[in-house]
Amino acid sequence: MPAAFEKLIKILRLEKSQGYQDKAVIGGFDSFAHVWQGEARAEAQGEAEIQEVEAIATLLANYGSSGHERRVEIVDDILGRTESGSEPRIVPRRPPPVKPGTAATMVGETSAREVQTAPPPPPPRPPTPQPAQRATSGLEAPVNTLPGVSTAYTSRLQRLGIETIKDLLYHFPHRYDDYSTLKPINRLEYGEETTIIGTIWETRTQQTRGGSTIVTSVIADASGTIEAVWFNQPYLVRQLRAGRRIVLSGKIDEYLGRLRLQSPAWEPLEKELIHTGRLVPIYPLTRGVTARWMRRLTKRVVDHWAPRLPDHLPPAIRERTGLMDLNTALQEIHFPSSPEKAEEARRRLSFDEFFAIQLGMLNQRQEWQSQTGTPVPANRALLDTFLQSLPFELTAPQARSIEQILEDMDKPFPMSRLLQGDVGSGKTVVATAAMLMAVAAGKQAALMAPTEILAEQHYRTISQLLADTAELGLGRPVSVKLLTGGLGRVDRRRIYTALASGEIDILVGTHALIQQHVTFDDLAMVVVDEQHRFGVLQRSTLRSKGNAPHMLVMSATPIPRSLALTLYGDLEISVIDELPPGRQPIETRWLLPAERERAYSFLRSQIEKGRQAFILYPLIEGSDKVEARAAVEEYERLQKEIFPHLCLGLLHGRMKAREKDDVMGRFRAGEIDILISTSVIEVGIDVPNATVMLIEGADRFGLAQLHQFRGRVGRGEFKSYCLLLSDSTSPDDPDTRTTWERLKAIEETQDGFVLAEKDLDLRGPGDFFGVRQSGIPTLRLARLSNVRILELARGEAQAIFAEDPNLSRPEHQALAEQVSRFWQGGDGPS
Ligand code: ADP
Ligand code: MG
Repeated sequence: MPAAFEKLIKILRLEKSQGYQDKAVIGGFDSFAHVWQGEARAEAQGEAEIQEVEAIATLLANYGSSGHERRVEIVDDILGRTESGSEPRIVPRRPPPVKPGTAATMVGETSAREVQTAPPPPPPRPPTPQPAQRATSGLEAPVNTLPGVSTAYTSRLQRLGIETIKDLLYHFPHRYDDYSTLKPINRLEYGEETTIIGTIWETRTQQTRGGSTIVTSVIADASGTIEAVWFNQPYLVRQLRAGRRIVLSGKIDEYLGRLRLQSPAWEPLEKELIHTGRLVPIYPLTRGVTARWMRRLTKRVVDHWAPRLPDHLPPAIRERTGLMDLNTALQEIHFPSSPEKAEEARRRLSFDEFFAIQLGMLNQRQEWQSQTGTPVPANRALLDTFLQSLPFELTAPQARSIEQILEDMDKPFPMSRLLQGDVGSGKTVVATAAMLMAVAAGKQAALMAPTEILAEQHYRTISQLLADTAELGLGRPVSVKLLTGGLGRVDRRRIYTALASGEIDILVGTHALIQQHVTFDDLAMVVVDEQHRFGVLQRSTLRSKGNAPHMLVMSATPIPRSLALTLYGDLEISVIDELPPGRQPIETRWLLPAERERAYSFLRSQIEKGRQAFILYPLIEGSDKVEARAAVEEYERLQKEIFPHLCLGLLHGRMKAREKDDVMGRFRAGEIDILISTSVIEVGIDVPNATVMLIEGADRFGLAQLHQFRGRVGRGEFKSYCLLLSDSTSPDDPDTRTTWERLKAIEETQDGFVLAEKDLDLRGPGDFFGVRQSGIPTLRLARLSNVRILELARGEAQAIFAEDPNLSRPEHQALAEQVSRFWQGGDGPS
């Protein structure tokens, strides 16, 4: 390492240990910066190093006048730039793929050169999969084995979810800036994003009165000249020397009637272009990771690794689908040679993700279908008695769903079925019918719900629904019991015993159902409500309580069918796509904070008519404590100042189960007029007399959640309302545009399917309706809305699965590995 750098590192470490007081060098860093710059420049080799020296000198010069926090950043940043200049490295999990240069490397550009000259691991030309594996294991090496990635950078990258080289390779740009259109200077137009190539005529710097520096260069090509300006980057003066040929990309601006480039990206012409003159990748970044740094690093990794990756997709499939090969796709997704290629790359990589999901699903499906289950024949007489005892007629989709379920249950392998239906579509009665069949066959059933409130409610509903039937059709009462975490020890023990002896027919509860001590006598049927709230593991634990029991999972998330087939490809699907008759549309209004008083008087008028209302407070990110406090404070304020003559209740996640039950009970009984709640109210609550849902901070909720909240009203015969209070948002403000669209959508439609489609559009990949929790690996690239690729992947997955279900053929080995890795880590495929 150049002596100047060694010295600097020592000084910075000293400065750090002294608490950033600007005392490590006599005279302070300001004056040191100047001296150091001279020394370092003298030693610097090549343009890149000089640039780096300048950049560091600027940081140093600003150090003295910076606050503590910024000082910490500056020191970290410089130490981070100087390879191994920072703290001792973490020992790599595996030997690094590329040996960092013997002498410490200095900066990105230098390292890039080193990577190119350092011998790569033997490029695999695999006769067997072993060399391919070697290439893969190099990919698993931590990022700090890459030259130029210091400890400081390692932890920053970690914030982006990047730990290994493979993560970097799969850290895709979320968009590109198109700087690929080269234009002669005299044809430039105001406002366009463009790239020019020119020669620097002159560069000058200027101090403003405010103390900032402006660097101005005059750039010329054969057609004309244009000025480019940069602010507060004084070191540019040295880099932008007259006579240099450079490439500039940026937006054409106007100043005092003349066109100019403001703070354009630029780089010397002679190098391969990364930041200009092409489709430039824009990556998700984090503090301390600049766009340029990220691009340089990615470029090195892509150049080195992309060509070395074996393509796991069998050639036959690639041929049939016409998809791009993996190597090209990885190159093109990061540094596309054209928009079309970028799109092709995206297609290929999205396909990979869907394909892996599908294969995983098919595998799971095969696994459960190969188990021997216990057929539960339908007891038609009992079913009829039950249906006749209901105060309503089933809707057609309800009846159809019951038939589908009963048919499955009669099979010798366990049912795995998803019952999908919008809020209020009446899933509970369907599930109850199915559970009753298990009971009639002398077996047990269990229903698991995500919250105590919901479990409690199911318990109540199911007990009621079965109250008459039992006597009529079964000749004995059905024993339904509730098991939640809130239950006392004695009661819990009693339930355990009764359950193990087979005394209990149907057990309803929360996660408490899957505790170790819970043993059933003969569990033949399990129902999981709001299944996306549970992980795959929890579902399978519940399942393991019986001997391959039939499973029905329920979801109020209305998702398009093609999507359902993918996300729940291991399940059969029943859909209730029709609400019970007589439901009135819920009128939804989006109000501004200034209209809050109006909302309150509307609530009062509804309560005067005998109705009830909810007021909901938003989740405050990451803290249900804060959330609870907000609700408590608001509750007190509302009771005292706004609704002194009404009875208000309070419900939040930090209350004891018994307190919650008590409040819910009083609300259900009509004793409480207005229930102030946090988002614990989200799922399933059924109080038909409640007609107003007022949501505070509506902009903080996702579309799915808002739809769920709204579903808490409009459950009875009365016209219902949903009022959304939100700070102003605008379709023209990029920061609030999606919020605006979300609120607009929820205001305009009540159709869960339409909202689901909208949600798909608005959200990023892999972030759909709690898909994350449902155990599906994170999608990095694939958009669930991309139905065409999704279906293509499904088709191919089925084809390959039909031929080679275990992916055991040699030509499928790479694929098998990829699928299992994808599912294991929730990681991108590799
Ligand atoms: P969800 O699908 O949201 O779980 P529920 O099962 O809680 O819906 O049903 C919502 C309400 O609709 C309940 O009060 C239930 O009694 C009622 N309900 C269910 N099916 C019908 C039907 N076919 N006709 C009329 N009301 C029904
Ligand atoms: Mg429900």
